[in-house]
Amino acid sequence: MSQPHHGGCQCGDIRYAITGEPIVTFACHCTICQSQSGSAFGLAMRFHAEDFQISSGQLQSFTRRAESGQVFTNSFCANCGTRIHHHASANPDHLSLKPGTLDDTSWLKPTHHIFARSAQNWFIFPEDAKVFDTAPPNNNWLNGE
Ligand SMILES: [Zn+2]
Ligand SMILES: [Zn+2]
Repeated sequence: MSQPHHGGCQCGDIRYAITGEPIVTFACHCTICQSQSGSAFGLAMRFHAEDFQISSGQLQSFTRRAESGQVFTNSFCANCGTRIHHHASANPDHLSLKPGTLDDTSWLKPTHHIFARSAQNWFIFPEDAKVFDTAPPNNNWLNGE
């Protein structure tokens, strides 16, 4: 894909640009992602945090402590509430973008599906996807390994 990638929120206040390529794109079927997205699963695209720039508007954020003890900082448009990204305390150099906010979503393809144990029962996992019942056994996949 050509760079930079541009995107923004639903109301248009927030605009961003990403200069790097994603490390990994995945779908999370956990119930927290279901409630956050108001949908069947959450999509995330990991980037190096330094590759992400806000070009207009200002993000607001809230924090949530996960069962693992990790603190997630979740950032969204203060006006329309569209979630743009989050980052985890354990990995401050990475940022998980909500890739549905990209202007061009035609190239999104999650390679990993995690927390499949709580996936909607009508969901059919793609044959070439890596599927995990919960979180993958180690974090190498989050570094593109
Ligand atoms: Zn907005
Ligand atoms: Zn999740």
